[in-house]
Amino acid sequence: MNVETEATRPRRIVAKVGTRLVVDPDGQVRHDFLSRMARELRGLMDQGVEVLLVTSGAVGIGRRMIFPPGRRLRPSERPSAAAVGQPLLMRYWAEALTNVDIASAQVLLTQDDVVDRGRCMRLRDTLEDLLSWGVLPILNENDSISVESVTFGENDLMAAMVAVAITPAELLVMLSDQEGLFTADPRSDAAARLICQVQPHEDVAQFASGAGGPESLGGMSAKIEAARRATDCGIRVVIADGNAEGVLARAVRGETIGTCLLARPRMPSRKAWLAVHLMPRGVLVVDDGAREALRQSDGASLLPSGIVAVTGHFHEGDLVTVQDRAGKEIARGLANYSAAEVARIMGHHSSEIEQVLGRAGASEVIHRDDMVVSSIDTV
Ligand code: GLU
Repeated sequence: MNVETEATRPRRIVAKVGTRLVVDPDGQVRHDFLSRMARELRGLMDQGVEVLLVTSGAVGIGRRMIFPPGRRLRPSERPSAAAVGQPLLMRYWAEALTNVDIASAQVLLTQDDVVDRGRCMRLRDTLEDLLSWGVLPILNENDSISVESVTFGENDLMAAMVAVAITPAELLVMLSDQEGLFTADPRSDAAARLICQVQPHEDVAQFASGAGGPESLGGMSAKIEAARRATDCGIRVVIADGNAEGVLARAVRGETIGTCLLARPRMPSRKAWLAVHLMPRGVLVVDDGAREALRQSDGASLLPSGIVAVTGHFHEGDLVTVQDRAGKEIARGLANYSAAEVARIMGHHSSEIEQVLGRAGASEVIHRDDMVVSSIDTV
């Protein structure tokens, strides 16, 4: 792999630390790891690299405080265990970081915060302020108020969304107790081989082996899914063993460590936000002509004439996906009309919209600037 030059070295990274690095199998906090990580973060910040830290461990620490070792948590107990563990998790990080003179800040997120564009912008301003003050933002999911149906579930996805859509970073480093991505489960298959580099078009989901531990929901498949979202939007991802000495600095320098997933060209941040958005509110099915028009690299807006079906209950401004007749997602974007209005104007020429709806409106159902077309929207 090419080692990064000064000019191409990432200036901003998101580092994600998994539960099993923070808490050992007996439930004890791994203070040595936190101290070593703090020193690594200090080293990066001294080189002018901006870092956002995403840390798991609240549920694991909370469980240890309340229950005897070996007692597994029911899913419904996770939010309350996290409420116990989160302040302790922050205390342990803050202690380790204070020792190396790093001020830190806690930022807790739910999926709603990332999905709502307004909250997302507020969050971005907060994180930018913290970074400009030289403060290390420490993020975790706000587990105690996350609704089960819309939880991030694990922080891999949250870290990817932060890196992609909130504070655009150049590198996402996902640290766990696994060396990286293997061709098979290394715990059960002696022939398993570490995959050092993955091209953007390569499908590696088949290699997803290894679930998370008792308190961690992640595992490799969650990492691959999250990593893909980041690489599709132009962010390089390194999946590596957090216990390896100097892992962050080595990932930043572009040295071979763990598995490096190379990125597609970068997307503008507004489009990246659309691309990683998890909760589209509806589906527009388009005919072949509209599909081809959308897929042209110079792009077209989606007009009502090309729409053949609409599902979902979305309002004007909501995110919807655009599918072809075979059900394949070809684009996604912000609708200029509600589902009920689209149902009335679909198949019509744009010049007929006012007559059909009884009000004037945009001539396109999704404007090109508010749309991201699968695998095309790169800059
Ligand atoms: N937010 C959870 C915690 O802090 C994450 C658990 C996980 O990554 O699986 O414990």
